[in-house]
Amino acid sequence: MIYRFCSICGKKLKKRQDGHLACTSCQFVNYQNPRPTATALVLYKNKLLLTKRGRTPFKGWWDLPGGFVDRGEHPTKTAVRELKEETGLHIKLKKVFGIYTGTYPHKTEPFNIVTVVYLANSPSRSLEALDDVVDSKWFDRNSLPKKIAFDSNQKIVKDFLKIWN
Ligand SMILES: [Zn+2]
Repeated sequence: MIYRFCSICGKKLKKRQDGHLACTSCQFVNYQNPRPTATALVLYKNKLLLTKRGRTPFKGWWDLPGGFVDRGEHPTKTAVRELKEETGLHIKLKKVFGIYTGTYPHKTEPFNIVTVVYLANSPSRSLEALDDVVDSKWFDRNSLPKKIAFDSNQKIVKDFLKIWN
């Protein structure tokens, strides 16, 4: 994550006053902008879907389904795609719940994310655990697990609990 050389000309990068790494020879600046992700709050009969992570970071912790927006992809499509990849569910998104920021822990240096959070209802109860997910379950509002992965998801779930009846 910490780049040492310019990806345009190959010369050394140096930290500027504003904190960004810039090339010492050409105009290249490594801005390290937040990465966009999409997240879904999916309900079935008023139970919330959480997936258990099979990979680091937060391996073994419960997560909201979602993932990184692909190149050229709209976050709406990301949320639908990730739901299918991780749980086998084909969902229709209802509306945007909110937009959140967060930190994604990474070996050498964490990076920031901006996530678009959607609300959705699932047409089906049956779930699979696919891709990098080892389990997926429906949770009552009174039986949510304590170990929720990512600071962004903790904020999202906390806000969702305010409107979840
Ligand atoms: Zn350069």
